[in-house]
Amino acid sequence: MTSTVTFENWRQISSDFDVKDETKGARAVLDWAYNAYTAEQIVYASSFGAEAIVLIDLIQQVKPDAHIVFLDTGLHFLETYEVIDKMEARFPSLRIERKQPAITLEEQAEQYGTALWKRDPNKCCEIRKVIPLRETLTTKQAWISGLRREQSPTRANTEFINKDDKFKNIKICPLIHWTWEDVWSYIRRKDLPYNKLHDQKYPSIGCFPCTQPVLAEGDSRAGRWAGSGKTECGLHTR
Ligand code: SF4
Repeated sequence: MTSTVTFENWRQISSDFDVKDETKGARAVLDWAYNAYTAEQIVYASSFGAEAIVLIDLIQQVKPDAHIVFLDTGLHFLETYEVIDKMEARFPSLRIERKQPAITLEEQAEQYGTALWKRDPNKCCEIRKVIPLRETLTTKQAWISGLRREQSPTRANTEFINKDDKFKNIKICPLIHWTWEDVWSYIRRKDLPYNKLHDQKYPSIGCFPCTQPVLAEGDSRAGRWAGSGKTECGLHTR
């Protein structure tokens, strides 16, 4: 296995991982990642959704003091903050950072008007998610994400290791081959905490103004920015 990833060899490294183990390659990818990068060079940007719970459990097996960042927009559900508290209690050695935007919700309302998420969700996501993550990633060579291929058409071509043109670094996605059933089987088997909104038909959970339950089978992200045409917050798009 090549140990150094560059913008030229990322695709080759991504195809080298054996996906036949019980974690479908996730553990091998994380072992490689925390060997290739120091703890200060890599961060996991976590939503604390179901995939995140699995990923955090796997990460702490490899790097007990790993740096995890949660983009705290100030608009998350109470249940999301509750599960973060529970994961901090379960894995106290992890460094879980709650990264806040440069401006408060009140300042955002003064500058852009109230409920910006209704009128211009891309701008709102840029202020409250994209810029804060960019600030975090300026000191990192790589970041980890819980994307799965089956989540949505926009994520179907995700590789284990991806050249991230947006943040000019490497994005590592250990769970690309996991199904929704795999995620829940792991959570139940390990008796891990999880966001209780998942029990109320919220497969994907973001900020409360932009997240609805999904009542039909299909795209697990259909409840995000429903009816707006927007499908991603901007962290995973160019
Ligand atoms: S998900 Fe909605 S509320 Fe949250 S930052 Fe994006 S537009 Fe704003």
